[in-house]
Amino acid sequence: MKIAFIGLGNMGGGMAANLVKAGHEVHAFDLSGEALARATDNGCATYTSVRESVQGAEAVVSMLPNGKIVESVYGADVIGQAPASALLLDCSTIDVDTARKVEDAARAAGYKMVDAPVSGGIAAANGGTLTFMVGGSDAAFARAEPILAAMGKAVIHAGASGTGQAAKICNNMILGATMIATCEAFALAEKLGLDLQTFYDISSKASGQSWSMTAYCPVPGVGPQSPADNDYQGGFAAALMLKDLKLAMEAAHSVGAKTPMGARAEELYAAFAAAGNGGTDFSGIIKSL
Ligand code: NAD
Repeated sequence: MKIAFIGLGNMGGGMAANLVKAGHEVHAFDLSGEALARATDNGCATYTSVRESVQGAEAVVSMLPNGKIVESVYGADVIGQAPASALLLDCSTIDVDTARKVEDAARAAGYKMVDAPVSGGIAAANGGTLTFMVGGSDAAFARAEPILAAMGKAVIHAGASGTGQAAKICNNMILGATMIATCEAFALAEKLGLDLQTFYDISSKASGQSWSMTAYCPVPGVGPQSPADNDYQGGFAAALMLKDLKLAMEAAHSVGAKTPMGARAEELYAAFAAAGNGGTDFSGIIKSL
């Protein structure tokens, strides 16, 4: 297929490369010259504007920083510019309301669109092992699935428009809260004289077990290899966790949901990021506990 790809950053660069590997003709655009040069090396054809890149496209994939940018890129340069038969797929993590608003505008102009945010970081984007959570109609999902499958290991239909974003922020709200709880428990265990490996051996087989503990242990030298073993570099930056928690809190506010643990997790990650740790892996919050 001829696929336009907008936003070739840390995540989008690898995703576009995987579409090329799957045999698609990828027409790429990014504001950054460096990102465009990397895309050329990866076999994409590059363009000097969004408008040019979407001409004649059968699908448009975007991986952009936030909702404001997604709304402006689609509003100004995708809707009405790409053929109305093109499927639109926004893989960025953005707020549910904006995702629904952009999809409404696309549908009004005759397009099918899905919100398809991802779980998995830069390594999964490069390796083609992302998990996609997809919001949109059955017909839109059916068309989106094979395109997304070329970039991921799982493509799950979450429901109607916006529910992909809803799944993403609810999942990451659990992740933020459980990571902090796991860090607290290890810090307390140590102060109480428990050997941390021993505590891991017990809790990882008991009811305190979670992904934060057994797949991403925040203690160096304990559990599988994780950013803790690399001085909390790489992995999932605290600033991105904070972004997702803010989106979760905005969404909770908009529907009147009570999320006290999510709210506290947001406060703690805001303080951690404000102390100069925005680029640190989110498990590094253990250092502040
Ligand atoms: P990034 O900042 O590395 O990449 C974003 C790219 O978009 C940049 O190259 C930038 O130049 C480009 N861009 C910005 N405005 C543009 C415009 N108007 N037109 C064209 N290009 C434009 O960010 P990233 O880490 O790749 O994240 C992208 C999205 O994926 C975000 O929504 C993020 O929340 C989400 N996400 C990131 C991760 C992660 O681990 N990095 C994991 C899951 C989800």
